[in-house]
Amino acid sequence: MNFCPVCSSAEIAKKIPEDDNREREVCNSCGEIFYSNPNIVTGVLAYTDNDELILCKRLIEPRHGYWTLPAGFLENQESIEEGALRETEEEAKLRVSDVKLFTILSVPHIDQIYTFFTGKVVNYDFGPTPESSEVKLFKYDDIPWEELAFPTVIKTIKLFLERGDDKIINEVLRPKI
Ligand SMILES: [Zn+2]
Repeated sequence: MNFCPVCSSAEIAKKIPEDDNREREVCNSCGEIFYSNPNIVTGVLAYTDNDELILCKRLIEPRHGYWTLPAGFLENQESIEEGALRETEEEAKLRVSDVKLFTILSVPHIDQIYTFFTGKVVNYDFGPTPESSEVKLFKYDDIPWEELAFPTVIKTIKLFLERGDDKIINEVLRPKI
């Protein structure tokens, strides 16, 4: 941030505000404090009764060309479930039923929280969108594990195949060293 959105001053600096315990961006001119907090990503693992699930081939960075579950950043004024269903519609033209919260994955080293719901595929006229070059059903045995976009996606699919979605799973993903 170069200019304070409140007073337009350029005097923004990192410091620990009074009564606080960590560094924040603070405007030295008007005193405004700019808090930065984790972003929430929310999406859907959509399955069928024939042991298949939906993957989208990413048409955007990061991880262009890799397969992912439809998911994206939660918007203001939105519940995580509304966000997940909206992203699924936007990225895959897909609707789901029997929606259940499944994974809550904290990824502290990149300041993100991922939430995935499971849901049953409703419409079969899903397809490509400006964000996905392909939207495809994969048999559980044919998941392209080496071409999946994100560790949170890999984790969510693995947990679903191993344990089903009867229990909500809350985990922390650490960087692989
Ligand atoms: Zn200011």
